[in-house]
Amino acid sequence: MSVLQGKVAIVTGASRGIGRAIAKKFAENGAIVAFTYLSSEEKARQLEDELNALGGIAKGYKSDAANFAAAEQLVNDVVAQFGTVDIVINNAGITRDNLLMRMTEQQFDEVINANLKSIFNLTKAVTKPMLKAKKGSIVNIGSVVGVNGNAGQANYAASKAGAYGFTKSIAKELGSRNIRCNAIAPGFIKTEMTEVLDPKVVEGWVAGIPLKRAGEGDDIAELCVFLASDKSTYITGQVINVCGGMSM
Ligand code: NAP
Repeated sequence: MSVLQGKVAIVTGASRGIGRAIAKKFAENGAIVAFTYLSSEEKARQLEDELNALGGIAKGYKSDAANFAAAEQLVNDVVAQFGTVDIVINNAGITRDNLLMRMTEQQFDEVINANLKSIFNLTKAVTKPMLKAKKGSIVNIGSVVGVNGNAGQANYAASKAGAYGFTKSIAKELGSRNIRCNAIAPGFIKTEMTEVLDPKVVEGWVAGIPLKRAGEGDDIAELCVFLASDKSTYITGQVINVCGGMSM
């Protein structure tokens, strides 16, 4: 039997990259998938068609993860359409890399809002249906950079480190209500986000990864399925690296 059969999942930022892989893996495992995007209308429509063709139920919502009111609207819309929300994957994220000396206030704020405030927005909105259902699983996508830091990514690293503090606090607050909250820290995963990196830098990273390869979206998606499913009901408050051994 499919491990997510009939469960309603919201996956943010699924028009591309890791989110797209998660949405597909969830549909393959029987979940009803409500996914969001910001600007990639065409890709989102294609994904909706693809997931529905898998025999599942899926719907894309244009919703800015950084916007508090939009998160509330999203949850209301999903509950109106599918009855509840069992799973949230806070995946939407951006980079605005720059050395601190050159980093603008706007670059800092944009990253914090899209990567960290977004997690607050949707987690807060979803607690209502989850408390009512007396269950839920929330997974926040962080980064190994959130623990290790990275030159040129002070904004991004801060947003991901913030996500871990948030994850652990929510796990403590909502554990007694059977709502779990975990984070995944991907290493270097091949997506449009990492396509922009200097190939020389990438080569150096891959050489330093014990498994000697970049990760795929599916590497993250498989763990999301496990953390979202009833196979992980005693796991909460954890940050789990999926990085080929890049970070230990
Ligand atoms: P990506 O290929 O750039 O895709 C980002 C996705 O997020 C897109 O679907 C985009 O939607 C969506 N998005 C961005 N801002 C949004 C917003 N404000 N509201 C709603 N959706 C928004 O990135 P990725 O590599 O898949 O990364 C996904 C997550 O994994 C991010 O949180 C990232 O920080 C994390 N991560 C990635 C790596 C890596 O190596 N790739 C490593 C560590 C962590 P549109 O297409 O509509 O713009």
